Amino acid sequence: MSTLNQLTVAEAAAKLAKRECSSAELVAAVLASIEKHDKQVGAYLTVDAESALEQARAADAARSRGEHQPLLGVPVGVKDLLNVTGQPCTCGSKILKGYVAPYDATAVAKLRAAGAVILGRLNMDEFAMGGSTENSAYQPTRNPWDLSRVPGGSSGGSAAAVAADEALATLGSDTGGSIRQPAGFCGCVGLKPTYGRVSRYGLTAFASSLDQIGPLTKTVRDSALLLSAISGRDPHDSTSLDAPVPDYAAQLGGDLKGLRLGLPKEYFIDGLDAEVEQSVRAAVDQCRALGAEIVEISLPHSKYAVAVYYIIATAEASANLARFDGVRYGLRVDGEDPIDQYGKTRAAGFGQEVKRRIILGTYVLSSGYHDAYYLRAQKVRTLIRRDFETAFQKCDAILTPVAPTAAYKLGEQINDPLKMYLGDIFTIPVNLAGICGVSVPCGFTSEKLPVGLHIVGPALREDVILKVGHAYEQATPWHLRKPEISSQKAE
Ligand code: GLN
Repeated sequence: MSTLNQLTVAEAAAKLAKRECSSAELVAAVLASIEKHDKQVGAYLTVDAESALEQARAADAARSRGEHQPLLGVPVGVKDLLNVTGQPCTCGSKILKGYVAPYDATAVAKLRAAGAVILGRLNMDEFAMGGSTENSAYQPTRNPWDLSRVPGGSSGGSAAAVAADEALATLGSDTGGSIRQPAGFCGCVGLKPTYGRVSRYGLTAFASSLDQIGPLTKTVRDSALLLSAISGRDPHDSTSLDAPVPDYAAQLGGDLKGLRLGLPKEYFIDGLDAEVEQSVRAAVDQCRALGAEIVEISLPHSKYAVAVYYIIATAEASANLARFDGVRYGLRVDGEDPIDQYGKTRAAGFGQEVKRRIILGTYVLSSGYHDAYYLRAQKVRTLIRRDFETAFQKCDAILTPVAPTAAYKLGEQINDPLKMYLGDIFTIPVNLAGICGVSVPCGFTSEKLPVGLHIVGPALREDVILKVGHAYEQATPWHLRKPEISSQKAE
């Protein structure tokens, strides 16, 4: 018998609609699970239990009045870089300590409009810079499958909370892999939508030309449900796309006959862990058995993607993070004059990785170096995007690993930033090209760690990658396994 907090979003929505449980009971079960496990897991930075229960009671009352929005009464957690009215929004950084958001991000407002209950705020790498959540200024988050390991990042709290049944679903953000990689490490489904599919209004910007908000969920169907809820044009974000928002969940089902799935010949690289490769290749075989035609494709410029990303993302970050100066938000360290105050506030407020990126980004934009680095990186970005356009003439979606390895130990990579940067080798090209990708559980290593399959689609073809993911998921048992948290020793 599963407990209420273990339900998927689709299951919970059905139960609530049939009045088999109330939202107040559902939210209480999730809060109890947070109480029980989060001391070990550390997924949440703040939980507003009182507000969550109040929202749940309001949802129950709305249902009694005859309302029936798709997520009415369903508890969802959000990454700590999305603004939620009246709640802290630290982005995992000391520099935003004490800042309280005065408005809802559009994705949050849309979740509320769909009836969702907002539970609390999830831990992350500071300003979404990192791949293990160890760059949080507040606490590490641990992988529910093995508490000595990282949950991935930067949306590590969002992934761990879903895996530990401490939320039915969560929102994360993905600039170079930050939804898909932690979803892979924690055995959940993580979707990075097409650039512009979801409004970025109220998302604290890291790299504005790459950032997208997306859902982390227990199943592909739930991912589809949340994507429909948060997508759409928003006058507050001029890059949001004016394209119709389909009912993605209604389009799921069927096998993969007639679909061509591409395998990039450059992606099965030397550093790829043998067990990860085995699981991904078995998943490819499963897709073939479901009727897909597997074709070889080439993405020759992907090998430059990590280098290009660390020029473009740091350049944009150096500009975006200039606003944290101790005048308007959060921490202020007084100085002799305003310039002294900015310097002291930033020195005290930003962590080491954020400083490294601001310095890198400022350098690649500086006069004399701009053309050699930034401009050249933009040109290679175009080549990477064109590779995908060419590939999608031969196939409908692309299959790759999500990450080269499964979850590693806390502390193992934190002093080797380059190694950590290379962990996003398969996910970064998708952000650079502005297209969509989803991570779906595809097996476990011999150490019982989840492995993710990465399904990549053309711009605005989330329907295709969700269809592939759903067919694969329904044919395999991986998404049904649960981590044993209580039996693991606290370290
Ligand atoms: N790990 C990558 C980085 O450190 C990606 C982060 C992200 O997608 N926000 O920049």
